[in-house]
Amino acid sequence: MTRTIPFGKPMIGDEEKNAVLQVLDGPMLVHGPRAKAFEASFAAYTGAPHAVSVSSCTAGMHLVWFALGYGPGDEIIVPAQTHAATAHAVEFVGATPVFCDADPKTGNIDIDLLEGLITERTRAICIVHYLGLPVDMDRVNAIAARHSLFVMEDCALAVGTTLNGTHAGLLGDAGSFSFYPVKHMTTAEGGMVTTRHAELAEKVNRMKAFGVDRVVGERKVPGVYDVTMLGYNYRMNEIQAAIGEEQLKKVPMILERRRENYETLHSGLQTIEEVGLFLSTQGGYQSSYYCMSVMLGDGLAQKRPQLMQRLGEMGVGTSVYYPAPVPHMTYYREKYGYDRSCCPVAASISYGSVALPVGPHLTPDDMRYIVDSLKKAISEEK
Ligand SMILES: *Cc1c(COP(=O)(O)O)cnc(C)c1O
Repeated sequence: MTRTIPFGKPMIGDEEKNAVLQVLDGPMLVHGPRAKAFEASFAAYTGAPHAVSVSSCTAGMHLVWFALGYGPGDEIIVPAQTHAATAHAVEFVGATPVFCDADPKTGNIDIDLLEGLITERTRAICIVHYLGLPVDMDRVNAIAARHSLFVMEDCALAVGTTLNGTHAGLLGDAGSFSFYPVKHMTTAEGGMVTTRHAELAEKVNRMKAFGVDRVVGERKVPGVYDVTMLGYNYRMNEIQAAIGEEQLKKVPMILERRRENYETLHSGLQTIEEVGLFLSTQGGYQSSYYCMSVMLGDGLAQKRPQLMQRLGEMGVGTSVYYPAPVPHMTYYREKYGYDRSCCPVAASISYGSVALPVGPHLTPDDMRYIVDSLKKAISEEK
């Protein structure tokens, strides 16, 4: 019997709907108490000394680079195996993203290559916890400390990611989370910057709202304020924050379901010799289980479109993380002259893997169905 297994589906219930209606019935749509409350809840959940709500993960990363004053002539090392947003945030301030290839065992940035990319212009390293598996931040931080570099964590897939008990976003100098619909929790669009640095949090907080010196509640005379720095309009509104507050309460349940699905899928996939699996949770490395990317073996990788199409026909939604290494994408290729030989490991993952769903909308029984469907699709393509 055919099922429908979407790759991702937000878990929106009556709690979120009621919270949204309450906001709409009230006087404040922006600058209200909900964004502040959500920041406090997210800080409590992650253990972050400072959490600043923003309009997206991309906006959060942009604000951090902007607040640090990086610009033309500065280089920031980013992974090749990531969403374009990681590199775009660097481009926004006029700095240059320098791409680092991936580790074939995890898909995370290859730390062995980092030091070779550092020049006198390098200012920062930005890592991504690929598919939610934490990067070895002790090694990244040690390299950063040797060269006095700032460390940013792109935490778009890292709600629930911890390393030796510390939540992602607090392992480096700053982190930026995404609440886009298919991520671990959603506010439709939205993000959160976490950091241990009070001054940076304060600056990001001002710069997300035009650089004004006083937000609405702090103004003695309504409408009167000064602008002390350049800033964007990157706020999270009260409707988004109300959804986020309710979503955060569901995160423990969401993570537990993801873990169970992941483990069920993982053991089933081990019986398929044509696919390779990435390392996941072990020891102090706790994954958030964003999805299950499988590497297709020789011969099968070329048939990926047919395989994904066939899985789709059987009701199994799939995706690709990510469609190409960022330096292979036209904008970066044309601007910096990269060619296809750049970042071969990221390329092998981008062009030779399929992402299978493990989201909380699915059950272990769905996982067994995915394994059977994949077996069937592979035998048909052989
Ligand atoms: C989804 C994603 C982003 C973008 O997040 P937004 O909240 O949509 O800006 C950034 N980085 C990575 C690694 C992502 O997967």
